[in-house]
Amino acid sequence: MKYKFKKDKTLYVDIDGKNYKVNIVYDKRIKKHRRLFAHDHIALRLPEGTSDQWVYDYFSHWRPRSWVKEKDKLNQELIPKFQKEIREKNLKLEPKSLNELKQIVEKYIDKYEPMFQRPKKVYYKELYGSWGNCSKSKDKLTFNLLLMYFPEKYIEHVVYHEMIHTYCLNHNPPFYREMEKVYPDWRKWEHDFKLLLYLLDTNELYSWIN
Ligand SMILES: [Zn+2]
Repeated sequence: MKYKFKKDKTLYVDIDGKNYKVNIVYDKRIKKHRRLFAHDHIALRLPEGTSDQWVYDYFSHWRPRSWVKEKDKLNQELIPKFQKEIREKNLKLEPKSLNELKQIVEKYIDKYEPMFQRPKKVYYKELYGSWGNCSKSKDKLTFNLLLMYFPEKYIEHVVYHEMIHTYCLNHNPPFYREMEKVYPDWRKWEHDFKLLLYLLDTNELYSWIN
């Protein structure tokens, strides 16, 4: 199965003589717009029913305009670094089916269960803003469907992260003590997730996480 994030509409806005692509997703679950500057375009998640005119009006204000210019400038510096690192690490997306993803996740839940506890339920969903999450009751895990594109070792890392949450809900010192048992270099891993996000983004698969 090929999984692609939806994109409902594309508009173009002019900001001080530069044309920017704006990819829009309508979302009935939100009341206020959310925005993100991806590698070469703006991504907007808007409450359902928002007009195109709202978008043009929005980008006529100086605040959103300076946000775009600032992010664009930062990206110009960051992108060549990301591309170089991706080449050096030979990092690639590895598409797999949802079933394959489920099997991999289950395999690592089995592996780490003795250290923590087995979740009662495991879900796979479109998640905005994270690769996975754990319920407050600590017994339900949800994984981002985009993990279907990740090399297996990164899926394992996300599973381990979420399994720690079945023991410790917050990202606090006890959490990182558990993290360091298996991933003493977890900071490097977190950086790699940024590179993977960039790969997803340049393949027009996703532009919402941050
Ligand atoms: Zn977490």
